[in-house]
Order: sequence, then structure tokens, then C-alpha cells
Amino acid sequence: MDIIVLVKQVPDTTEVKLDPKTGNLIREGIESIINPDDRHAIEAAVGLKERLGGKVTAVSMGPPQAIDALSEAMGMGADNAVLLTDMAFAGADTWATSFTLGKAIEKIGKFDLLICGRQAIDGDTAQIGPQVADYLNIPQVSYVCEVEEIKEKSIVVRRRLEDGFERIECEMPAMLTVIGELNKPRYAHVAKLIDACNDKSPIKVWNSADIGVQVAEVGLSGSLTHVIKTFAPKFQRQGEVLEGETNEIVSQLIGKLKENRLI
Ligand SMILES: Cc1cc2nc3c(=O)[nH]c(=O)nc-3n(C[C@H](O)[C@H](O)[C@H](O)COP(=O)(O)OP(=O)(O)OC[C@H]3O[C@@H](n4cnc5c(N)ncnc54)[C@H](O)[C@@H]3O)c2cc1C
Repeated sequence: MDIIVLVKQVPDTTEVKLDPKTGNLIREGIESIINPDDRHAIEAAVGLKERLGGKVTAVSMGPPQAIDALSEAMGMGADNAVLLTDMAFAGADTWATSFTLGKAIEKIGKFDLLICGRQAIDGDTAQIGPQVADYLNIPQVSYVCEVEEIKEKSIVVRRRLEDGFERIECEMPAMLTVIGELNKPRYAHVAKLIDACNDKSPIKVWNSADIGVQVAEVGLSGSLTHVIKTFAPKFQRQGEVLEGETNEIVSQLIGKLKENRLI
């Protein structure tokens, strides 16, 4: 079973801060990690490969330092990795990101499963997996929390709904987006990590020419959406902390509620 897994490198925080002047994300001083859902995607891919044979290829689009995320994926058991990095890819919206990843997957060639995380903790759109599946014209199942069975030409999975589960059988090749309930990701194996990081690293680095795209089709110029302004919402109502002994606080609180005609 040949599996491609999409891996995004993200800042190690869910409290993204914006530069008030430029509106850009402040990334300085924040460690980068593999997007948490993607660790579950890698574990699923490597687990299936160990059971059924085949190979796992990890793919990431990002700046050159995203190679660290791919090295870790290889440390966890991926056999190959491809980093898509090019100044032309910068400023991509989800459309341009999915198109670029789709082109790279076409270049990699035949596969049985494409596994992605459900959502990235920085961009948060949960659009990439479904959009890449749409680009590749393959079936997709999102929110996968269990892989029940692999048949000759299809896969049976369980997907999480708000109030229950759905069991779906889907023809392969297919795209799955996975959630944390699926498995417990393993730690990277040190020897494999060293192999991935050394001078003869097997990680391939591709630019726009390598995947046969025009600069105008990718990055900011290939994006269908453009950010006009980025800002953090201003809170209209400020909280107030009451201090003192409990009895004092309770009577202060009752006074304030009466003052505001809330009781
Ligand atoms: C108009 C616009 C402009 C933008 N400009 C910039 C910019 O200048 N710089 C910038 O950093 N971001 C920019 N972004 C954000 C960028 O488009 C998204 O981060 C990116 O498309 C992925 O979307 P997401 O983070 O919501 O991923 P989600 O859809 O939430 O991710 C789901 C899964 O898809 C896979 N995945 C997502 N992204 C990647 C990736 N890059 N490589 C491999 N797998 C991936 C992972 O498996 C992940 O778990 C911009 C977005 C918009 C809308």
C-alpha cells in the first residue's frame, strides 16, 4: 500500500499574535512543530505500511526550515519525503496551496491513500485535504477516527460526527483527513532521524519548475482570495476582578448586579 501523507510545519502555539503595523503573523521566537493532527496522519500511514507493506511519502509545502518537519516524519517511519519550497509559493491561499500540493502528488505518481490532518492549528481552515482530493478527483472522507478494514480496492473507515459516528466504505485511491482520536503517534527513532538529517538526506526539494507550474499559478499571484486586513478583535466589554474576603466580594457583586439592574 503506497501512502502519501501531507505534513505542515506550524508555530508551536495556538495564540497567534499579529504585528499591529503589518498585520502579519509574528513568528519570531516561536518554535516550529509538526501540526498536531499531522502526527496522527503520519502514525496512521506508517502503521498501515507496517501491516500491509508498501511505502510512505511525506510531503510539505513551506519555507526551507520545513525540512525539519519532514525529517521528523522520516524519523517516525516515512520512507521518502518531498519539500516544496520556492519564493513563488509564498503568500498562497488555500486554493494555491492545494493546487501546488496536488501538482507535486501528480509528479510522485501512483498511490493508494492520501492522508492529511483534519486542520492546521495556524491557518485553521480544514480546507486543504478536501481541496487536494477535489483537484486529484479522488473520493474523500474527513474526520476519520478509525481505519476498520482495508479491502482489495476499498477502505472502511469510521468518521466522527458531532453526535455519533459514520462507517464509510470508499474506493481507493482516496483521501482521508484524520483526527487525534485515531491513534497515539510514536516518537521519532533517533537513528532514522539522523539518516534524514545528514548530508545524504533522502528528502527531495522541489521548486515550481520541478512540479511544472508557472509562477503566476502559485503563491500570492495564483491565489483566488486576498487578505485586505488582518486584525485582532477589540473586546467591547472589559472584565473586572473583585478583591477582598469572600463576604465582601459577594456583597460587591450583588451591589454591581443591582446597579446594572441585572437583579
Ligand atoms: C489570502 C491568503 C493569503 C495567505 N498568505 C499566506 C502567507 O503569506 N504566508 C503563510 O504562511 N500563509 C498564508 N496563508 C495561509 C495559507 O494559505 C494556509 O496556511 C494554507 O493554505 C494551509 O491552510 P490551513 O493552514 O488552513 O490548513 P488546513 O486546511 O487547516 O490543514 C489541513 C491539513 O492539510 C495539510 N496541509 C495544510 N497546509 C499544508 C502545507 N503547506 N504542506 C503540507 N500539508 C499541508 C496538513 O495535513 C493539514 O493538517 C494565506 C491564506 C489566505 C487565505
